[in-house]
Amino acid sequence: REISTKETNVAKIKVVVRKRPLNKKEISRKEDDIVTVHNNAYLTVHEPKLKVDLTAYVEKHEFYFDAVLDEHVTNDEVYRETVEPIIPTIFQRAKATCFAYGQTGSGKTYTMKPLPLRAAEDIVRLLHQPYYRNQNFKLWLSYFEIYGGKLFDLLCDRRKLCMREDGKQQVCIVGLQEFEVSDVQIVMDFIEKGNAARSTGSTGANEESSRSHAILQLAIKKHKVVVDTRRQKDGNDSSKGGKVIGKISFIDLAGSERGADTTDNDRQTRIEGAEINKSLLALKECIRALDNDQIHIPFRGSKLTEVLRDSFVGNSRTVMISCISPNAGSCEHTLNTLRYADRVK
Ligand code: ADP
Ligand code: MG
Repeated sequence: REISTKETNVAKIKVVVRKRPLNKKEISRKEDDIVTVHNNAYLTVHEPKLKVDLTAYVEKHEFYFDAVLDEHVTNDEVYRETVEPIIPTIFQRAKATCFAYGQTGSGKTYTMKPLPLRAAEDIVRLLHQPYYRNQNFKLWLSYFEIYGGKLFDLLCDRRKLCMREDGKQQVCIVGLQEFEVSDVQIVMDFIEKGNAARSTGSTGANEESSRSHAILQLAIKKHKVVVDTRRQKDGNDSSKGGKVIGKISFIDLAGSERGADTTDNDRQTRIEGAEINKSLLALKECIRALDNDQIHIPFRGSKLTEVLRDSFVGNSRTVMISCISPNAGSCEHTLNTLRYADRVK
């Protein structure tokens, strides 16, 4: 499929919900699937409840979104619904962001993992067109993580990074390595390297990564002179290699239920929970402010939103993919996720 960079009529904010299928464990426990996708914009959740006299009944909750994707939808279709339409905008100076939100186990990583590579394929194809080749546009990649309110470079041995604001209120992540990526194989290698470096503790990969936000950025830059930038050791500041034309950030957010870890007995878990809670609330506030064309965007609410500051001003595009589990046992988390998504819109 050919993408044209001429398409411009793309919504500023799009909220998409994706339902995953019941997994083997849920099926073996004979759990009910309580989420029904009626059409591409409407779903219902059937919450099992008990009356005071213990008679069971079902409370039905209805939700409408820009797009609702059921358990049969493939990752390829997710790409076409979410990211593909905004690729042309980043050639027209837009800053785009694609988030996956939802409880741990709802499919955030499954959904997000293939998206940057697909996006890079499309971007590289466009960059090879004579017009952009002549403009000397190049693609750059960086990948970092926010864990417990601190930043770590996933492409540079989890080196700790810090954030600085310059006089023009531009956010700069000091020391973040950016790499020029000229073909899709190189992109794939970097993504794999970064994924392997994500927070994993003794408790298992999903457990730890569910407490961190992973941010992969693809930037299109206009180069003045041709240099072999891949050899450069210090590819840090945002102007390295050329002026940023547009960019897209892919964000695999911390598990939304982790924001509730603020009552945990373990002090570290409590601190992390509070930080996650703060960032998810701040994110919602920023997206709402964007949607209302507010002049003042409350970035300072969290590390996450501060880092994304330049993506929330001017010509921005935001896609939020809310991932939900279908099993009855996840009902409360599913409703929370859908209510969060509802409020963003
Ligand atoms: P999260 O990142 O939200 O914690 P994961 O993406 O790790 O969740 O998904 C949890 C499990 O469910 C994984 O084993 C994943 O492969 C599976 N899964 C998630 N979404 C789907 C889907 N749409 N279709 C099939 N399997 C899925
Ligand atoms: Mg995950």
